[in-house]
Order: sequence, then structure tokens, then C-alpha cells
Amino acid sequence: MNNYKEIYTGKIKFPEEKKRRIKKKLVKILDEKNFSEKEIDLISYSRGYWPISLQWFLKGYLPSLPNFVTWPINTEQVSEILKLAKEEKVPVIPYGGGTSVTGGVVPLKGGIVIDLKKMNKIIEINDLDLTVTAEAGINGKILEEKLNSRGYTSRHIPQSLPASTLGGWIATKAAGQFSTKYGKIENLVLGLEAVLPNGEIINSKIKPASSTGPEIEKLFLGSEGTIGVITKATLKIWPLPEEKKLLSFKFKSFTESLEAARKILRKGIYPAVIRLYDEDETELKFQDFTEDRESLGIFIVEGMKEITGQEKKAIERICKNEGAKNCGEEPVKKWLNERFDVITDISQYLPMKVVFDTVEVAATWSKIPTLYRKMKKEISSIEGVLLSSAHASHFYLNGACLYFTIGGIPPEDVKLEDFYFNFWSKAMKACLESGGTISHHHGIGLLRKKWLKEEIGESTYRLLKKIKEVFDSSEIMNPGKLI
Ligand SMILES: Cc1cc2nc3c(=O)[nH]c(=O)nc-3n(C[C@H](O)[C@H](O)[C@H](O)COP(=O)(O)OP(=O)(O)OC[C@H]3O[C@@H](n4cnc5c(N)ncnc54)[C@H](O)[C@@H]3O)c2cc1C
Repeated sequence: MNNYKEIYTGKIKFPEEKKRRIKKKLVKILDEKNFSEKEIDLISYSRGYWPISLQWFLKGYLPSLPNFVTWPINTEQVSEILKLAKEEKVPVIPYGGGTSVTGGVVPLKGGIVIDLKKMNKIIEINDLDLTVTAEAGINGKILEEKLNSRGYTSRHIPQSLPASTLGGWIATKAAGQFSTKYGKIENLVLGLEAVLPNGEIINSKIKPASSTGPEIEKLFLGSEGTIGVITKATLKIWPLPEEKKLLSFKFKSFTESLEAARKILRKGIYPAVIRLYDEDETELKFQDFTEDRESLGIFIVEGMKEITGQEKKAIERICKNEGAKNCGEEPVKKWLNERFDVITDISQYLPMKVVFDTVEVAATWSKIPTLYRKMKKEISSIEGVLLSSAHASHFYLNGACLYFTIGGIPPEDVKLEDFYFNFWSKAMKACLESGGTISHHHGIGLLRKKWLKEEIGESTYRLLKKIKEVFDSSEIMNPGKLI
């Protein structure tokens, strides 16, 4: 790629002498093949999957380039790189699969990318404890396939499974498609190993639960690369479910489908998957199964045969009581077939100058109706927005996550960035005013940073900054992200 331009200019410029020195030290720590400063590598590590950066890329712009890319093969090498970075005051960007959609891996100030992908071993599968311990760079799909081949599952299946990593999931507090029954990643992690910015390695005990004061290692959940590098983790696993039942229903409205889900959970039934589509998204994705302005809901229950049959009956009864009509297994099979299909979702629209993004938020049940209405109204009111559909796909006894897909073409006199950041501002403002939380699983990154203070409150924000300082006094860890 020739003649690209970098968008962010806060980059720390190294004198050539310092650059040479760092390079020499990095090559000493790593094998030469696990280090690069080739332009092609620097460009590849400049942006992740942040949608606006795809648009920039097509126009020849890059957010920002790192100075070096490294692929350590063990925790000791990560530790040595961090010691060097601290000594030389060079930024470090931990990198898993690079699927961050919030600018989390953009090397804002340049520096050293630590790509964990060569740290990809499964260390132990423990049948008695039902745990898997693996290195943090392991690819999600490979981890799940290896577990499946031994009769287990982690049931953490994000849409980005084929491209994301264990460390990235933990650093962003990711959510998988089966989270309603099994939980988000923070509910699955039983212990982890991490390297602090001074090179020190910390290891937590693997435990089902404990009462031993605050668990410091839990600060790594959602830390987005800002306090250290996660190098290993132990997750809960499950034996593969004996049986699955697929159900779907069409409801007269999204509000009614949400009501059905709330009532199902209230009865203590936790389907592995619940996905409820609003009227617009139903029309886009399931028009073969529904009439005008209906809301489609799909459910998967899984587990022991004796139980799944009972759960299926109960779900059918509750949905019927909400006025829903049974649509059978086909819509669920369609979703199962297409659930990793990102290309048809996104890429085809980019050359048409369509700006898009997804915004996932969450709230307790009492706030969900207002949150949905307000966000949808605010987003749709922007000139140029062509699509603002939503679905709900992660459910809790106390609430749910709403996932909006927004797309549009900026009016001729409006800059791409102004259009994009305007719909984000409207969405975040509407969410905060409705009492929702501004991210359910994509994280804060660069994109949502400016709303974090309002989300968590001034005092907590100050405390979080102090905690970051304690871990990272030299301010080398993923600068400009999260806080
Ligand atoms: C098509 C698509 C679908 C997606 N679907 C989902 C979904 O279903 N559910 C969901 O939750 N998210 C989803 N995402 C978002 C993204 O996949 C998640 O945020 C994922 O958890 C990031 O993992 P990663 O390995 O790619 O991390 P990266 O993108 O490499 O990094 C993300 C952040 O974590 C930090 N980080 C990465 N590894 C480490 C480490 N070892 N130690 C410390 N910090 C680290 C990085 O510095 C960065 O701040 C999707 C993204 C795309 C593009």
C-alpha cells in the first residue's frame, strides 16, 4: 500500500539511535523470525476491525503505525519485552486476534505490538475439575474444536470465534452466543497468569470460588491491554450437551418477544441461546418466515434429554401465552448456518460508501423498553441513516443486551467521520439517559472512551485511573485506550 497517511498524530518519534537499540534488544529476546519492522507487518497491525478504520483504509488512510511487531513464544519473553519497554519508555500494544471493533489495538503512539498468537498451547484439560488451561494467544475456534474432539465445550462462542483469542476475550469481557445459559467470559475464567508492565509474572490459584479479599487478577477482566499482558488462563468447560432442541416463534412485536424471554428466565429456565429480533431486523433476516412487522425469536435449549423436553414445553407455553405463533426449527437452522457469516453482513456495503457499525448496550428489564425506543429514535433521526435495526441476544434474570446495527450514507455536505461519530454520540447519550450500560461486550477501546466517566461516575473513574497508575507507572500499556 503506497502513499498511505496516518490519522492520529500523537505518535512518539524515536531518534534512529534509540530505535536501533530497541531493535537489537528485541532481536536478542526473540528469535529474528518472531520480530518484524517490515512495512507490510506494521500496516497489518495498524487498526484491527474497527469499522471506521476499514473505511479509512479503503481511502488510503491508516489510524496509526506501530514501530515493531513481536511474536513471543513464552511468558518469559513477554516479561523481557515489557522490561525493555519500561526501561526505554516505549508503548506496548497487547494483540490477540485483532478483532477489536472499538479501536482497542490501534497503536496510537506507535511502539511495540506484542502479538500472542504463537502462545497457543492447551496446557491441560482436567476432566474431574472440568477446566481447560491454555496459553492466551490460542485461537478461539481451535480451542473449541480441540475441546469438542475430547467431548467437551467451553460454550464461549462469539461471532468472532474463528479470529479471536482467549486473551482478547478476557481483556474485553467478551460474550458468546450461548451466554444466556453459560455466562460471559468473566463468568468462565477460574484463574489466569499475566505479566505486569515491570516484567513481573503473577499467577492466580485456580478455584471454584473463594473468600480471600478482593481478587486482584480480576482487574485483568476488561483491562483492554492497559495494565499488563494476559499470558495464560483457566476456563470452565462442560461435557458436550446430550441433546439440543431448536424452537422459534413469531411475535406481534419486539416488546412482546422481550416479555416472553423475561418470563422464561423468571421461571428459572435458561435456554443456551435466545435471540429476539426487532421488526426491522426480522424483515431483513427472516422475511420468509414472518408477516409484515412481526418480531422473530429463536431459542435453543440443550442438556440432558429428560430436561430439554420439559424446557421446550415450558417455553412453548410461555410464548403462546404472549400471543406468539410457532415457526418451527427452520429459522434456527438458518441462524446456525449463517452465524459466523460476516462477509455478507458488512463487506458488500463498504464500496457503496455505506458507513456502519454495531452498538451493544445492556440494561435491567425495567429500563429496556425506554432504552430501545430512545436509542432507535435518536439514531433514526440522523440524516443519512438508512438502517437502525436491533436484536437482543444475551439474557439475564435481571435484564438483557440490546444490539443495534446502524448503517447509512453521509449526506454530501457531511464528512464521513462527522456522520459516524454523530450516530455514536446520539446512541451513547440515549443509552446513558435511559439508565443503560454503554457496552455489553465490545469494550471501551478508543471509541467509547469519552463516555466512560459518565458511565462509571467521577469518583470511580478517578480510582480507576489511580489503579492504572499503580500497575503502569511508566504509562506504556496500550496508551489512549479505556481511560
Ligand atoms: C465480526 C466480528 C464479530 C464479533 N463478535 C463478537 C461477539 O460475538 N462477542 C464479543 O464479545 N465480541 C465480538 N467481537 C469483538 C471482538 O471479537 C472481541 O472484542 C474479542 O474478544 C477480541 O479478541 P481478540 O483476540 O481479537 O483481541 P484483540 O482485538 O487483539 O484485542 C482486544 C483488546 O484486548 C487487548 N488484548 C488482547 N490480547 C490481550 C492479552 N493477551 N493480554 C492483555 N490484553 C490483551 C488488546 O490490547 C485490545 O485492547 C466481534 C468482532 C468482529 C470483528
